[in-house]
Amino acid sequence: MTNRPLAPKHVLVFDALKMAGRPVTAYQLIDAVRDAGISAPPTVYRALNRLISDGLVHKLESMNAFVVCTHTHAGGTVPVFTICNACGDAREFADETVGEQLAKRAIERGFILDRAVIELHGTCAKCVTLSAQAG
Ligand SMILES: [Zn+2]
Ligand SMILES: [Zn+2]
Repeated sequence: MTNRPLAPKHVLVFDALKMAGRPVTAYQLIDAVRDAGISAPPTVYRALNRLISDGLVHKLESMNAFVVCTHTHAGGTVPVFTICNACGDAREFADETVGEQLAKRAIERGFILDRAVIELHGTCAKCVTLSAQAG
């Protein structure tokens, strides 16, 4: 975490991500901010790195996508995402127990944890209902 204020370009990228309301890839973001005058991909990548290190955005490695954090992670709670394989919807919740246990296991191994994101893949409630209706 840092207390440096976000640069205007960081804010633009953050706003574009908020507007998307779902996980988006860096390429999709680059498209989204082009009209706002940001056309250099490295600018977008730098903004993403900054937003991630500030805890405002998470990277979903399994989707190679970025999503706005809907929690604060005060107290070291680990972000957990449920990701729907059918519609791509990603929802975040913060689980204190899991984060604590994983951090403890890592420390036991002399590992210094930088950040963690847990990604759970499956089918969201909406898609479960839809497929039940279709069946
Ligand atoms: Zn979060
Ligand atoms: Zn779904």
